[in-house]
Amino acid sequence: MAALGKLAEQLDPKVGLCSNCKRASILTSAKGFSYWRCGRADSDAAFRRYPTLPVEDCAGFEFGSPQTRNLPAD
Ligand code: SF4
Repeated sequence: MAALGKLAEQLDPKVGLCSNCKRASILTSAKGFSYWRCGRADSDAAFRRYPTLPVEDCAGFEFGSPQTRNLPAD
């Protein structure tokens, strides 16, 4: 249970589990807007591509660092 407490300390409360999930990506637009994208949605329709934040419970969570990507300008 101590591990869960440590994880909770690391989570961004506005984002929830996605902030420490290796399946997440942070997409940043040329105008500086950021979006959290779920990579599991690519292969499993049970997951939303852009989950409603904060995600407090998720069967697909895998501890790790989200990827970051810059979106191309229009
Ligand atoms: S699997 Fe769950 S916690 Fe991970 S990125 Fe997708 S919605 Fe977020």
